[in-house]
Amino acid sequence: MGQLTLSGVTKSFGPVEVIKGVDLEVADGEFCVFVGPSGCGKSTLLRMIAGLEDVSGGTVTLDGREITNLPPARREIAMVFQSYALYPHLTVRDNMGLALKQAGHAKAEIRAATDRAATMLSLDALLDRRPAELSGGQRQRVAIGRAIVRRPKLFLFDEPLSNLDAALRVQTRIEIAKLHRDLGATMVYVTHDQVEAMTLADKIVVLRAGKVEQTGAPMQLYNDPANTFVAGFIGSPQ
Ligand code: ADP
Ligand code: MG
Repeated sequence: MGQLTLSGVTKSFGPVEVIKGVDLEVADGEFCVFVGPSGCGKSTLLRMIAGLEDVSGGTVTLDGREITNLPPARREIAMVFQSYALYPHLTVRDNMGLALKQAGHAKAEIRAATDRAATMLSLDALLDRRPAELSGGQRQRVAIGRAIVRRPKLFLFDEPLSNLDAALRVQTRIEIAKLHRDLGATMVYVTHDQVEAMTLADKIVVLRAGKVEQTGAPMQLYNDPANTFVAGFIGSPQ
């Protein structure tokens, strides 16, 4: 399961309110994509769902359990960042297994989980390498593998492809779509790339200045945008 609900979520940094009351439902197994201009609050929203940022108001619920004030490690949520944030001194295997090790899982169990994730992401041959010995695309796959081994109910991706070149972006996007199918997990994915949004999403949430402007299936927003702002993001001709 992995059903996410945000109710009246707000966030202020000092006197400035940057998230202004977001209500959102993401169904179990759904691929939900956040789009919107730079600075509209996509990353802040994701960080609040992950527990990396305090919520100023409202609630976050996962499978009916309120998690608004739980520490990140207790949320059953994994986040994949744009910068891969791998530990340079650890091998691929140890980077992927670290969270399980910290949570006190047995060695054999960690090994089995990392082997499984490595196979899923074609990283089997790279398990003993260190991040410096990998390409950008391979590092991003390790970052995704690190999320998979925790078996989270919910995956969060913050512009995971934006540091990759065009060809790798397409390849990695296809891998993420496959991963979604294989795992059946709920995913919330931030991008400013229309093609990514249109091809990956079951549901697109268009954000504007800390509020939800429109929510819908890709073709629904494409064919019936609420206004020119949404049309500008989803790319239907004016
Ligand atoms: P996006 O990811 O959509 O580009 P962000 O969530 O990063 O937007 O930022 C939303 C707004 O919140 C921006 O105006 C940004 O400057 C502001 N902001 C983000 N993090 C902080 C912070 N730690 N302190 C102050 N302002 C912040
Ligand atoms: Mg951002």
